Amino acid sequence: MPKADYYEVLCVTRNASEAELKKAYRRMAMKYHPDRNPDDAEAEVRFKEVKEAYEVLSDPQKRAAYDQFGHAGVDPSQGGGGFGRGAGNFSDIFGDVFGDIFGGGGGGGRQHVYRGSDLQYNLELTLEEAVFGIEKVIDIPRMDTCDSCGGSGAAPGSSPVTCSTCNGVGQVRMQQGFFSVQQTCPTCKGTGQEIRDPCTKCHGEGRVRVTKKLEVKIPAGVDTGDRIRLSGEGEAGINGGPSGDLYVQVVVKEHKLFTRDGDDLYCEVPISFATATLGGELEVPTLDGRIKLKVPAETQTGKLFRMRGKGVKPVRGGPVGDLICKVRIETPVNLSKEQKALLEEFAASLEAGGTRHSPQEHGWLDGVKGFFDELKAKFKQD
Ligand SMILES: [Zn+2]
Ligand SMILES: [Zn+2]
Repeated sequence: MPKADYYEVLCVTRNASEAELKKAYRRMAMKYHPDRNPDDAEAEVRFKEVKEAYEVLSDPQKRAAYDQFGHAGVDPSQGGGGFGRGAGNFSDIFGDVFGDIFGGGGGGGRQHVYRGSDLQYNLELTLEEAVFGIEKVIDIPRMDTCDSCGGSGAAPGSSPVTCSTCNGVGQVRMQQGFFSVQQTCPTCKGTGQEIRDPCTKCHGEGRVRVTKKLEVKIPAGVDTGDRIRLSGEGEAGINGGPSGDLYVQVVVKEHKLFTRDGDDLYCEVPISFATATLGGELEVPTLDGRIKLKVPAETQTGKLFRMRGKGVKPVRGGPVGDLICKVRIETPVNLSKEQKALLEEFAASLEAGGTRHSPQEHGWLDGVKGFFDELKAKFKQD
């Protein structure tokens, strides 16, 4: 791609004065400055062009060479004794050209402190752990205050100095026409402090990444969605600012036997056809052992039995929940010839008796009949 003409890049005429060049450069450089166009590759390219154009045209010797020979006169890559410098670092040129508009005023040396970020940790618990409470050791990767420099970011024995770009204000003001834009100082990133001799352990950051082991006490009765706040266990603050908090978010895993709804536990219990018919005693599980459940005769499938106080003790206080067992009658399988014969005999005896043995069946059949009668009546009407 051929290089753009330096005068065109800056939008000036070929006989522009030094003052006009400087004014044009400021205008264009601000327009394409990377701080104002974050993640804009196009603007970055334009910014480099503008910078390069000004570097050449603001130097009378280079400008003369450029006027005579074009890019070949100043570009080192084109050979022939160039004067140009690769357009690289953005910030180096700011000190001299923008020095008069950056910063200025404001109480120098003001320390900018920031609170560390809050962190969230998702902690998976079994139902038993959630119901009875537990102490867990968790590993938290986080930023901690660097112990080598005590968080200052300056090498031991040295200390940060007031930022020379913003005079310690942390903000710089950019003027463009009528507008004045305040933005974070590019040199010190808003801290107001410059580190000349950075700490080798944290590279001037003041914080280092560590994996911290923490003991968390999970109170009994927590459920999915509950959060436990560990004050000050988040990321370290910046420049001595307070640490953030750590939020431990509880996620309770599914249980093989129980489902939880608030403080109640639900459990499905299979029972045999004979026990359901004749009544009997069952053993049902609870979270801390087995208990006996008396099943009355003629128990139907789906019947719920409530065991008071065998549920969950709520974490915020209040009465303990219940355990609710739902019975499900199992159809016998793998019957022997004799057993099948007995069952057939039994079924025949039920039919011969003239007594109702299936409480729902008759109601159900009546319902079906009623449904078809209504349907027939409807068709007749139509
Ligand atoms: Zn350090
Ligand atoms: Zn600064």
